[in-house]
Amino acid sequence: MGTISANLQAVKQRIATAALACGRNPADIGLIAVSKTFGADTVAAAHACGQHAFGENHVQEALGKIAALHHLPLQWHYIGPIQSNKTRPIAEHFDWVHSIDRVKIAARLSAARPAGLAPLQVCIQVNIGDESTKSGVAPGEALALGRAVGALPRLRLRGLMAIPPASGDHAQQRRHFARLRRLKDDLVAAGVSLDTLSMGMSADLEAAIAEGATLVRVGTAIFGERKGSEK
Ligand SMILES: *Cc1c(COP(=O)(O)O)cnc(C)c1O
Repeated sequence: MGTISANLQAVKQRIATAALACGRNPADIGLIAVSKTFGADTVAAAHACGQHAFGENHVQEALGKIAALHHLPLQWHYIGPIQSNKTRPIAEHFDWVHSIDRVKIAARLSAARPAGLAPLQVCIQVNIGDESTKSGVAPGEALALGRAVGALPRLRLRGLMAIPPASGDHAQQRRHFARLRRLKDDLVAAGVSLDTLSMGMSADLEAAIAEGATLVRVGTAIFGERKGSEK
């Protein structure tokens, strides 16, 4: 708890410093605490420190935590790969989905979103480094997918998300994030309304903020290293 509190403070300080360095308001950058592999008790501890938004990338694992913490006013973000047979629980239990990369999945999420809930807030994941191993739509297909997703009744398309190739080099990190920012600008110019850039993690949030990130997804810097081979 002491560590999580101190880590959260340090991450918020990094966000504020990065924002101010480029003339942005730190309040315009949301922090998603990526709690994958950590238990409900750890999420509750972070909530006690004032953190409300949490990111998960395994449906089954997340459902346990969401149920256990139902009494807390938490916002849940699904940031992992989506299998078609998991669209219903995602649509029923999450507030946001960042990893839409095909229209078929988006249509299933829209159809399964319960009428009593607000529309599911979604981002399109873009394979910004054109890596064969990464999920995400190719940059050249983002506009068509954005138009299709934007037309679905129970989804609200908010923006673009990317996980760029890992690099320790700030300038290199910025080049990828800049590409996502320009892609968002292109979609907006083409009439797709977007207000969100979900980009930046523990190792590169400064570069992401410099390029316009409005949501950063931070795990390790808040909760520590994850065990085993879990990513
Ligand atoms: C795990 C994960 C993160 C957090 O990564 P850290 O390096 O631990 O901050 C962010 N986004 C996605 C999509 C992830 O899967």
